[in-house]
Order: sequence, then structure tokens, then C-alpha cells
Amino acid sequence: MGEHEAVAGGIYQVGGSDLSDPYDASVFVITCGQDLVMIDCGAGKAPGAIVENIKEAGLDPQRITTLVLTHCHVDHIGSVSYFKEKYNCTVVAHDLDADAIESGDPTLTAARLYNTKLPSTTVDRRLKGDQEIIACGTDVLHCIHTPGHTPGSISVYIDRQGSRILFGQDIHGPFTREFKSDISQWRDSMNKLLELKADILCEGHFGIYKPKERVERYIKGYLGQHLSDFL
Ligand SMILES: [Zn+2]
Ligand SMILES: [Zn+2]
Repeated sequence: MGEHEAVAGGIYQVGGSDLSDPYDASVFVITCGQDLVMIDCGAGKAPGAIVENIKEAGLDPQRITTLVLTHCHVDHIGSVSYFKEKYNCTVVAHDLDADAIESGDPTLTAARLYNTKLPSTTVDRRLKGDQEIIACGTDVLHCIHTPGHTPGSISVYIDRQGSRILFGQDIHGPFTREFKSDISQWRDSMNKLLELKADILCEGHFGIYKPKERVERYIKGYLGQHLSDFL
């Protein structure tokens, strides 16, 4: 399996800057019974490479039923219309980032920064609560609203085989007025994530952190860097 070695039982990294395209943030696939749930989908330049990686991990991309978008930035969501059209999957995002995703807002999605355009897409399920659940087969994916980097940023976790696996993309920031970032909200969000005591953190750009102590150190390290509420 080489580079597509499982992060944990039935969970694979299938996209990222050195796995699919230099612009891609990390893309993960979670097997839930017969279904596959994708966490983010890359910047939109090389969705075919992600599909190939899914196949190389021994999975059939036709099984993708759900695509969870962690926030509205193009390096995480650029291929959303590709996957939605090709596999007819349900696109899930937080309500507070969903309008930017649907309209492809060039500033809020950072498409302008990446010198690209985002095709318009519909978000099928808008998460509105502080914490919501995606039921998938016998598995439960917990989606936690973790605003800060963007207003509608979410983090996702799943408990599997005695481990808690947390998908926390861009929890490190950056924080800008253009993104409507909020450091004070972000600090509360990071404290929520620390309470989860996750064993494995699948980060958006820097890879996979484990064990538990290293995950905690990673989050606390960023908390220590942003002591002021001002951007
Ligand atoms: Zn981002
Ligand atoms: Zn990012």
C-alpha cells in the first residue's frame, strides 16, 4: 500500500500536496461499511489523481456517498463539483461557510489568492448546530463547529478500534480579515478540540500527528502563538 497506508483502520489519506497536487490540502477517505466518506477534496486541479489514490488504496470511488467540507477555502473544496457530479455524493458543510461555497465567492474561498475560479455547487446538508452527527452505516461521524479560521470551519472526529481520530484542517490558521477570521472564537474552538483528547490528528497541510500527547502539543503550540485577539 506504500503511501496509501491506512491512517487507522479503514481510514486513508488520498490527497495532499505531495500525494495528488501541490495545491491540494489533505484529503481523507473513511470507510463506513459499504460507504466511503470523504473529508475535503483538493484544490480542483487534479481530482483524477485523488480518484487514482482511492483506487490504489483498494477502494471503489463509486462508493463515495458523502463529502464533508471542513471550510470554504478552495485548496480544500476546489474539486467539489467534480466529485458531486461524478459520484452523486451528498455535500455537507457548515451553514456559515455554505453561501461562500455555493457562490464561489473569490475572496471568502481564497480563489482570488490561488488565481482560480470555483464552479458553483449546491451544499446538500448545511450543519447549523454546535455539534452534529453524520450517521454512516454503523459509524458515527461527529462534526463540531470550530469557527476561527473561517466562520463556518468544522472539525470532524470518529472513534474507531479504540482510537479517536480527529480531522482538523487549518486549525492553525491563517487568520485574516478577508477570511472573516476571529481569534477569540478560534481559541474557544481549540479548547473544544483539546477536550476531545484525540489519539490521532489528521491535519490539513502538515500531515498526521499521533499519539495523544503529540496532538495536544500541536494544538497548544498554536494557542501559545496567538495570545492577542487582534488580527
Ligand atoms: Zn483554510
Ligand atoms: Zn488550507
